[in-house]
Amino acid sequence: TTNLSRDAVLRERAARVIPGGLWGHLNAAKLPAGYPQYYSRAEGCRLWDVDGREVVDFMSSWGPIVLGHHDPVVEEAARRQAQLGDCMNGPAPVLVELAERLVASIPHAEWCLLAKNGTDATTACVTIARAATRRRKVLVARGSYHGAVPWCSPSTAGVTAEDRAHLVFYDYNDVASVRAAAEAAKCDLAGILVTAFRHDMSRTLDLPDPAFARALRAICDETGAALILDDVRAGFRLHLGGSWETVGVRPDLAAYSKAIANGHPLAAVTGAEWLRRAATEVFTTGSFWCGAVPMAAALATLEELQRIDGPARMRAMGQRLRDGFAAGAERHGLRIIQSGPPQMPLLQFAGDADFRLGEAFCAAALAAGAYFHPRHNMFLNCAHDAAAVDRGLEAAEEGFAAVARLSG
Ligand code: PMP
Repeated sequence: TTNLSRDAVLRERAARVIPGGLWGHLNAAKLPAGYPQYYSRAEGCRLWDVDGREVVDFMSSWGPIVLGHHDPVVEEAARRQAQLGDCMNGPAPVLVELAERLVASIPHAEWCLLAKNGTDATTACVTIARAATRRRKVLVARGSYHGAVPWCSPSTAGVTAEDRAHLVFYDYNDVASVRAAAEAAKCDLAGILVTAFRHDMSRTLDLPDPAFARALRAICDETGAALILDDVRAGFRLHLGGSWETVGVRPDLAAYSKAIANGHPLAAVTGAEWLRRAATEVFTTGSFWCGAVPMAAALATLEELQRIDGPARMRAMGQRLRDGFAAGAERHGLRIIQSGPPQMPLLQFAGDADFRLGEAFCAAALAAGAYFHPRHNMFLNCAHDAAAVDRGLEAAEEGFAAVARLSG
């Protein structure tokens, strides 16, 4: 084993005691060869793997890191709360401060509940909508990800038909398909669930058509169903008042997590007044859900994002990355497809249905010091400055050269 990398040694040990080596979305087996699985350190927008290689990171832990790793303001707030208490018989005062801040800054919100993971929040939204309406059907976009429990998991292993019996599917940005799904649900329609934009893995990203967003609002208003925005992935990156402020449509319920506490474990559900009673009746809780440290981190994160206008900063740096990708592809005579909001971009190569070119690009860029993803939207964070983006673009140059060799 002496010539094996530390990463390879850890993977070999893990393979014996962890099913599949690692559960879920952070399993590096799904990435091109060369991507590390284990990390020793992170700072700002940089990561060091266990073999000491440094990269500029454009995944931001798949969303949670929004200000940058070890943001000093967030970590100081977390440390101060940790010295007082974290997991106690009840919450710390910071819960009320955070809830007040969320309700004040998210226009549709009259109340909020906190949880740990995005799945907790989306599941609570669906349950609250059903409790409030005493109906069962929920419309869900085909291919949208809402979490990792049986009603919504992308895997069907261990899932029963009954777990999903009351989902009715529509196509994102297709109003006619939503109308048809709503008609199929008849008078049993409890809610319509929708992500902030279409960000399905391995597919070009689509921003929400404002007419589509308005149609969902209108159908909910006509039928008394709840419009549920799953803002887990995009929340606090696109707009601090909820991502659909960008299209002028307000949901009845929204689910947040990922970026809310800059990497500390927290999720939130925000809701309109008419859902308050149902939110009281539903039993939603967990042993760690009143932990005070992540709440202190969230309060500091949201204040910082507002103080520095985080969404605008990430948008500008995402645009710089996107412009650099366009120039690099042009230099190499490559046709690329760029999609998504600049804060959460995706780069694809034209005609690359099997992602062979995208994977070659990412593998070469990684070896040159930038961590990109070939299939999933990437995430800018506020620690990306012009120098970091330009460093990423230098590495991307190696990626474009590799693709040019393959397709030349
Ligand atoms: N909804 C969306 C849109 C997501 O992107 C995710 C996480 N990728 C979830 C829900 C589930 O969040 P979590 O993994 O924190 O449970």
